[in-house]
Amino acid sequence: MQPFSKNTLLIFALVIGVIIIYSFSMGTKGGKEIAFSQFLNLVESGQVVDVLIKGETVSFLTNNQQYLSTNIPKFYNELVPMLYSRNVHFRIETNESSSLFFAIISSWLPIILIVGVWVFFMKQMQGGNKMMGFGKSKAKKADEDVQKYSFADVAGIEESKAELDEIVEFLKDPTKFEKLGGKIPTGVLLIGEPGTGKTLLAKAIAGEAGVSFFSISGSDFVEMFVGVGASRVRDLFAQAREKAPCIVFIDEVDAVGRHRGAGLGGGNDEREQTLNQLLVEMDGFNGNEGVIVIAATNRPDVLDTALTRPGRFDRQVMVPKPDMLGRLQILGVHTKNIQLGKDVDLKVIAQATPGFTGADLANLANESALTASKKDKACIEMEDFEEARDKVMMGKERRSMLIPEDEKRTTAYHEAGHAIVAALSSDVDPVHKVTIIPRGRALGMTMLLPVDDKFSQKKSQLLGMLTMMMGGRAAEEIIFDHFTTGASNDLERATSIAHHMVCNWGMNEVVGPLHLSASQGEVFLGKDLMRRKKISQELASRVDGEVKKIVNDAYNMAMGILKEHLNELHEITKMLIERETIDGKEILSILKLQPQE
Ligand code: ADP
Ligand code: ZN
Repeated sequence: MQPFSKNTLLIFALVIGVIIIYSFSMGTKGGKEIAFSQFLNLVESGQVVDVLIKGETVSFLTNNQQYLSTNIPKFYNELVPMLYSRNVHFRIETNESSSLFFAIISSWLPIILIVGVWVFFMKQMQGGNKMMGFGKSKAKKADEDVQKYSFADVAGIEESKAELDEIVEFLKDPTKFEKLGGKIPTGVLLIGEPGTGKTLLAKAIAGEAGVSFFSISGSDFVEMFVGVGASRVRDLFAQAREKAPCIVFIDEVDAVGRHRGAGLGGGNDEREQTLNQLLVEMDGFNGNEGVIVIAATNRPDVLDTALTRPGRFDRQVMVPKPDMLGRLQILGVHTKNIQLGKDVDLKVIAQATPGFTGADLANLANESALTASKKDKACIEMEDFEEARDKVMMGKERRSMLIPEDEKRTTAYHEAGHAIVAALSSDVDPVHKVTIIPRGRALGMTMLLPVDDKFSQKKSQLLGMLTMMMGGRAAEEIIFDHFTTGASNDLERATSIAHHMVCNWGMNEVVGPLHLSASQGEVFLGKDLMRRKKISQELASRVDGEVKKIVNDAYNMAMGILKEHLNELHEITKMLIERETIDGKEILSILKLQPQE
């Protein structure tokens, strides 16, 4: 955009300049303007010595050396005979010659302006800077940067890497591969959520094999003008063929590759043309040409089936979110060049970050470094990681939020209740830390430290979770005889778990192993709109009864535990009010428990 906006400025400056000159020249009249009748009087009385008639304007000189001017009324055409008869010296200057230029300008000006505005908007939409380069591919010309990437930079997704090894081998030496009769896929589809490292993988392949790397995002293909996307595809592949062997990486391929005719509000011609062109290009590879197309998406379900047919993206590689070991390895990669303190245990951080993607972990490492440098530390310590993790997961601490003393006390009892119940229930993960520093929308928090990733949960674990969730409110009931709204989120989550236990997971004897509620949240796909199951009134009320019973049991269980450990409840609350945050080990020692291993 830079050079272009300079040009626009120049054009506008010129136009404005012309307008100013024009209006000045129109306005040049000799001297002060007087009424026409006055002028006639002056001529009558012989005071006018020289006259210049220019269109409708008359400039004249009086015998006492005054320059004056006046306008001739349209209907008056006796001026010349009159001046002649009075013997006044006069000249007539035709207006045309001098104003021809301006006449042309003023008749063309609107057109020039319109064309200018049109070009401007085209450019805006295009974002390019060559006048008519609509079809030019936005792919960066063979990104040389990727040569610094290797598989060592991609951690925690070993299976995905293993599946892609073959591609690297091929790119390194296509001819050798051919001799052995190997059949190489032209297209690889990487499937995984955002941030799981798909782009990184594609770059690492190029880096490992030492080949060129072209990248473009699917959304770049989809333009306002029909045909632009298709010509971009053509251009991209033409560039890629020249540089073969190489990799063409298409991010967000679902933006072009949705099944055709499936868009809301009818088809999208432009996208279909683009998709067709992509298919044509991929079919055009005859044999081992050395161009490998890698596409990334997190919505393989919406892709047009034509894309996944043999000869196109027939190789599909899952790029999952990392498990605990994976997270540990990714943290290893991203802390390689950071000075870590002695107390840092990356394993604990990996445990405490379930569900984090590679990008989240990279962000976490970065945030920790920032936190540490803000405190002028020489290295990053565990507390910096903790702080960064909490910030990434739950929003920034709101230390400045003023909380009344009694509310702080309520929160402390509430969290202490959670912590004690969690520590004393079986099948609940160990307590990591408890805090009453407000963060995000929560006033306090009890965090657990999962020992490993859970892909499914046992009934006993769920009941343990329910009991722990009830611990907060139970503590409030024991200490104060009023409730606060602080427990509403706990109750909501607990009710939802209990509901799932009864309705989806068949974990209840009275209702039995039925699946009753259609999953929510699929409504947008349209297909599932009609799938909601009908259940009888009688069964529905039985379900309600059972859900209520499960929650109530958990609540009573929590009450029992807390009543038995009333002294510890007071003690932990006191510590919380004093120190705001205490860690799991201290809770265990107050409860005289051994850490579980
Ligand atoms: P995607 O393309 O899947 O959305 P990216 O490849 O753009 O994700 O990942 C963004 C960043 O996250 C990478 O540049 C890298 O720093 C980090 N990252 C993601 N996955 C990994 C991984 N498996 N190993 C190391 N770093 C990763
Ligand atoms: Zn709570």
